[in-house]
Amino acid sequence: QPFVAGITGGIGSGKSTAAKIFEELGIPVYNSDTRAKTIQNENSEVKVKIIAAFGEEAYHENGLNKPFISKQVFQNNEKLKLLNSIVHPAVFQDFEDWKKAQKSNIVMKEAAILIESGSYKDCDVVISVVVDVETRIARTIKRDGLSREEILARINNQISDEERIAKSDFIIDNNGDLAHLKNEVEQTFIKIKKMI
Ligand code: ATP
Repeated sequence: QPFVAGITGGIGSGKSTAAKIFEELGIPVYNSDTRAKTIQNENSEVKVKIIAAFGEEAYHENGLNKPFISKQVFQNNEKLKLLNSIVHPAVFQDFEDWKKAQKSNIVMKEAAILIESGSYKDCDVVISVVVDVETRIARTIKRDGLSREEILARINNQISDEERIAKSDFIIDNNGDLAHLKNEVEQTFIKIKKMI
């Protein structure tokens, strides 16, 4: 079984950018958010359960009816728990299958909700990418064109950096430029390699 490094961070923190740098250093990266989307769109067992829980409206021709589902779970925390109880075990299993197929002695699991989902507990080390809120807002505005208010609402919906840091073995500071991030990733990789 390979060593599992989990990587997380809030909206606009740069966890995907950091994970990409780890990938360039040779670590296979599993993107939980992308895989979860694919699973909801394509895994027939998951689809059956989501339809049973939310009704036929949960899907349209193009797959999951995201606006419908988002509205349901945003208004009702029990529905969010229900959706998570369908999707999280499927992603967990998908990661296990993916992991077994990797040849590397270390793999990385990237997830926005690594801490919230509890899946950090299955990681040998947890890495959090941390950036000042104002920089995250500026980078996310540039990337997504969302408004400051929309981004703040998302930040307030996620756990805080303090909570993330408390559960992390390594912190990657991404307040600097990309060269700085690359250096942070390389330094972290050196430390992790000693643990494998
Ligand atoms: P989300 O959870 O919102 O998807 P994320 O944590 O995966 O975000 P990224 O998409 O990696 O974050 O980064 C957010 C944006 O900031 C991207 O447009 C990325 O190119 C940019 N970015 C990341 N790091 C830096 C940096 N050090 N300097 C400048 N821009 C950066």
